[in-house]
Amino acid sequence: MTLSRRENAAPIPFDNSYARLPGHFHARADPTPVAEPWLIKFNRGLAEELGLDGAVLEKDAAAIFSGNRIPEGAEPLGMAYAGHQFGQFVPLLGDGRAILLGEVIDRVGRRRDIQLKGAGKTPYSRRGDGRAALGPVLREYIVSEAMHALGIPATRALAAVVTGEPVYREEVLPGAVLTRVAASHIRVGTFQFLAARGDTDGVRTLADYVIDRHYPHLKGSSRPYADLLEAVIGAQAQLIAGWLHVGFIHGVMNTDNCAVSGETIDFGPCAFLDAYDPTKVFSSIDRGGRYAYASQPAIGQWNMARLAETLLPLLDPEPSEAVNIANDLIAGFGPRFQAHWLDGMRRKIGLETSEDGDLDLVQALLSAMHSGGADYTLTFRRLCDAAEVETGDAALSGLFADPAALHGWLSNWRARCEREPPTGNQRAKAMRCVNPAFIPRNHRIEQAILAARMDGDFSLFEALVEALANPYQDQPKFAPLAQPPQPEEEVLQTFCGT
Ligand code: AMP
Ligand code: MG
Repeated sequence: MTLSRRENAAPIPFDNSYARLPGHFHARADPTPVAEPWLIKFNRGLAEELGLDGAVLEKDAAAIFSGNRIPEGAEPLGMAYAGHQFGQFVPLLGDGRAILLGEVIDRVGRRRDIQLKGAGKTPYSRRGDGRAALGPVLREYIVSEAMHALGIPATRALAAVVTGEPVYREEVLPGAVLTRVAASHIRVGTFQFLAARGDTDGVRTLADYVIDRHYPHLKGSSRPYADLLEAVIGAQAQLIAGWLHVGFIHGVMNTDNCAVSGETIDFGPCAFLDAYDPTKVFSSIDRGGRYAYASQPAIGQWNMARLAETLLPLLDPEPSEAVNIANDLIAGFGPRFQAHWLDGMRRKIGLETSEDGDLDLVQALLSAMHSGGADYTLTFRRLCDAAEVETGDAALSGLFADPAALHGWLSNWRARCEREPPTGNQRAKAMRCVNPAFIPRNHRIEQAILAARMDGDFSLFEALVEALANPYQDQPKFAPLAQPPQPEEEVLQTFCGT
């Protein structure tokens, strides 16, 4: 590596703890320079949140976030991990096209990873080219930032850069690099990588590191590894409940795409529901529907069982006792998920208190939505209006193929609401804080990608990013972005784009 690549870059105060972990946890890999980097987008607000000088950094952003210039203090590496992909175990995956530049401590003292995705080959690239295409980079930028604004833990997007080089997939596409910021990139698959090698010391080192970094309140516990497992299970149960609340389908919930921090990671073929359908699958590679919308909690629990397996030797010296401890904790996933889910659904229909019949009330609405083909997001948003004034009912009913099915439900709902103190106004206001007006609609993402790719027109991408930064506000100027697709606009399948 020539020194000049490392000179004159805007300062980033790196403090790289993962690079100090044992050598087989990662492999050094510098980004491969690209021909003609051009900055699509720089997330100045996130840069400031990281404690960086956004204005200074923006000047060097194309060079730094393409990997052409390596800021001082960076120790670029690929992380090793394994993973169950659609149920099949692969003992070595690793960052094949992502390079961790390093870590910074943000303004509130949290350690954050800065990683370039699509920055060239690493020792884990196998047959891949180490690159990313423009489409998936724009998709991840839009959706990860939208998830964050929706209040759901997610990795963030700091920058998107086009490389000026083609990438070869089924067709020739423009290459791009996404800079991703994460609480960490440690996955269930990172634990699996070490466990599969029989490296119990490595698993313990990683578990201690994760406790230190993500769950420091567990330090000094008398059973730290059981507590760690329980904490990750709790974080995943809450995360997946949040996904269901906003109609998000991750699409590839492989264990290598499951972060132990509890952040949503890897926005490959992810998509949001338009019409409510619990069996919905968008991903072209998910032929069996393993990762369908309503299957996500069960898969989350399955992934937690895989994490538990890696921790068994740390849970108890007696193997059967270790299995008992793990089983008890894994069994806790379901009730935790259910509690988070019902709690959030109650708030979506405007309830402050809990009553025994609430689950049935929520389920009756979902079932009317399913049979009526109602748009998931708009149903809840228009329900906010109906909470305020009964004249709102007409616009809501209009979303249902069979509006009569909704009418009975509305009177049950109003009877339930009347047993609580808030006025209609207050209730509507609270509901608008949990029922977004804007989600990243699949057809809009596809249109934004197409315009960028074919015409170099990033205006729809920009509009989406701006609108989705405030998803709970009506923003009349972006009204078309809140609408479901026309039949001819509907996206039927999404692709990983690897
Ligand atoms: P993903 O489907 O993005 O979660 O990736 C699964 C695995 O394939 C990871 O180990 C990636 O690093 C690797 N991978 C995906 N795309 C590429 C690529 N273009 N070049 C090298 N490795 C890749
Ligand atoms: Mg992945």
